[in-house]
Amino acid sequence: MKIAIDIDGVIADSCSVFSRLALFEKIPTSDKQYDLVQGVSDNQRLRFRKIVYFTIENQLTLVKPYTGARKAIAALSKMFDQILLVTARDPRFNFQTNEWLLKYIGNIDDIGTLVNLGSSKKTDYLLENNFDTFIEDRLKTANTAAEAGIRTFLVKHSWNTGRKIYKTVEVIPSLSFLPKLLRSENFVEDCHKIIPV
Ligand SMILES: [Mg+2]
Repeated sequence: MKIAIDIDGVIADSCSVFSRLALFEKIPTSDKQYDLVQGVSDNQRLRFRKIVYFTIENQLTLVKPYTGARKAIAALSKMFDQILLVTARDPRFNFQTNEWLLKYIGNIDDIGTLVNLGSSKKTDYLLENNFDTFIEDRLKTANTAAEAGIRTFLVKHSWNTGRKIYKTVEVIPSLSFLPKLLRSENFVEDCHKIIPV
């Protein structure tokens, strides 16, 4: 059993930081879209991208993990043979990402591996490398992975609701909910072994 976990929006509460910085810079944002700056001018989009890059490179400690993320990943590492942390961030920020993980989640070498993948490449990579479970916050990416047969969990956010969700995508409130859910499934499975239904 191998699980892939998306970083931004699943482990790291990055969007709220980027959206506050954008507002400070008077760049209109939307919490209904994965892309925070839909419908703005090219100049505003470029400025927003610069803010994001600057923050990741120099101010990543502004971004905090979601409640219970460290505990959840520790629990998942006991349930799965391999954990892959997936990020669409540019590889040149891996040093900062690893430092951030070390501070808030744990040493990447103890957790698993980190891979840089844009949203459109995630499903193919997971299939090629036999990942059977995936947790993500972007609806389109979650739908694609689920359609390809990967068990996919979508962490519910304002930017991924109100649109069509593929039938097998499982919506959960947070990453910290996942170990509890999987544990209860195992419990039911164990019960069925003792008392067949
Ligand atoms: Mg994400």
